[in-house]
Amino acid sequence: MAEPGVRNGEKVVSWGRLAGVGQVVSSENLEADSQGAALSRGLGRSYGDSSLPARPGDKIVQTPLSDRILAFDPVSGLLRAEAGFSLVELNRLFLRRGWFPPVTPGTKFVTLGGMVASDVHGKNHHRSGCFGAHVTWMKLRTADDRIVTCSPHVNTDLFDATVGGMGLTGHILEVEFRMERIPSPWIWMESRRVPDIDAYIRGLKDAGPHWPMTMGWIDCVSRGKKLGRGILMAGRWATPEEAPRDPPAEKRKLRLPFDLPSFAINPLTVRAFNELYYRRHPRKVRTGIVHPDSFFYPLDAIHDWNRGYGRRGFTQYQCVLPDEAGLEAPRLFLELLTRLGGASPLCVIKDCGAEGRGLLSFPLPGTSIAVDLPIRDNTQAVVDALNAFVIDKGGRIYLTKDGFTRPEHFRAMEPRLPAFEAVRKAWDPEGRLKSAQSVRMFGA
Ligand SMILES: Cc1cc2nc3c(=O)[nH]c(=O)nc-3n(C[C@H](O)[C@H](O)[C@H](O)COP(=O)(O)OP(=O)(O)OC[C@H]3O[C@@H](n4cnc5c(N)ncnc54)[C@H](O)[C@@H]3O)c2cc1C
Repeated sequence: MAEPGVRNGEKVVSWGRLAGVGQVVSSENLEADSQGAALSRGLGRSYGDSSLPARPGDKIVQTPLSDRILAFDPVSGLLRAEAGFSLVELNRLFLRRGWFPPVTPGTKFVTLGGMVASDVHGKNHHRSGCFGAHVTWMKLRTADDRIVTCSPHVNTDLFDATVGGMGLTGHILEVEFRMERIPSPWIWMESRRVPDIDAYIRGLKDAGPHWPMTMGWIDCVSRGKKLGRGILMAGRWATPEEAPRDPPAEKRKLRLPFDLPSFAINPLTVRAFNELYYRRHPRKVRTGIVHPDSFFYPLDAIHDWNRGYGRRGFTQYQCVLPDEAGLEAPRLFLELLTRLGGASPLCVIKDCGAEGRGLLSFPLPGTSIAVDLPIRDNTQAVVDALNAFVIDKGGRIYLTKDGFTRPEHFRAMEPRLPAFEAVRKAWDPEGRLKSAQSVRMFGA
């Protein structure tokens, strides 16, 4: 019989519905569980194969039961917690007390460990950088089963490779980072329609210096003059004076109770959805106070929305095109995407700020475009073609979303990879830590 908390041969599934089989271990004692494990896994919100076992027998630690807050200093905002502590719980406890994480991704169903390993970015990347920029200390179990600490000043090579390192340098056990003081728990938001991709990129660049948070949705299937039209959103925390007496309504949560058939998302339905979504926004600029959940996590309002892509699942292609590639690069990317038939209702665009210190962190100064691609027979060919474009423009893709990039493509787009590999080798010479993604992408 298996020990309590150990499940042999368990199927683990990523958000994009890729699957693997491992020996899954999960309890409140992450420090003990991580002994001899090949990989850690949080809430499985990475789309691709980064949180999947490399081989069927590999021991995988599932962290969400290790979710204690260990210290909080209300003067400095420093918070220390176990790596399985979730963002949903963090927000529940701290928002009404006037604190918010310095960086949040577009879902709150993630763990601190997952946020560090992906070095997540948010709507404020142009101002606040990635989550790792706010991490002050970490406790890790390394591949040789030692417990070590690292920070921007201690074991810095390990720190820099762990931030954005997709779990390949050690199991993150505890994380300390600085929370942000906020003036009220509400968001002042402005949104407007933008007629095409060129206007959109100009709008994003103009909004950046004035707004701490910007991003938006674009229509990536319409062609010609309408290509890349969309809705540009900008926001900031509301002041106490602006804060409403009655809290703005939280959107009701819906659940997708079954898989939609895979033909449900096709060019016709996507075009119809996009038209409706664009027209639903009034012509004039919309302003007002909104609930932070509607602003930061619109997709969380539909639980299990990943079932909308059918049983074969989907991948998300997210790349960043550097500013040096020119303002026309996003338009050329969208033209290529539509030519390749990459129809998707979800296409999100964001301008990124400076590159962070994480050796494999995703963003660099430029424009990030994220698009869902339902998995079809030609998905590999579509990703290959998009990657060739991104390499040509000096950009790169986001590992936590990826399940299809070829190793030679990643190597061509990531000049920092040899530095990352050197640190990984120094801390794990026998190659004990691995994921399905690391074997696919880095060969080990
Ligand atoms: C709807 C949606 C919106 C999103 N929006 C954004 C966004 O705006 N910005 C953004 O940057 N990302 C975004 N993401 C991606 C998401 O933030 C990351 O994939 C995040 O890492 C998921 O956290 P998790 O706890 O689910 O980690 P998992 O998916 O379980 O794991 C992700 C990676 O982290 C590693 N890992 C997890 N825990 C540990 C640990 N304790 N020690 C070592 N390694 C660990 C895993 O090995 C794996 O490589 C979004 C995802 C979804 C589903």
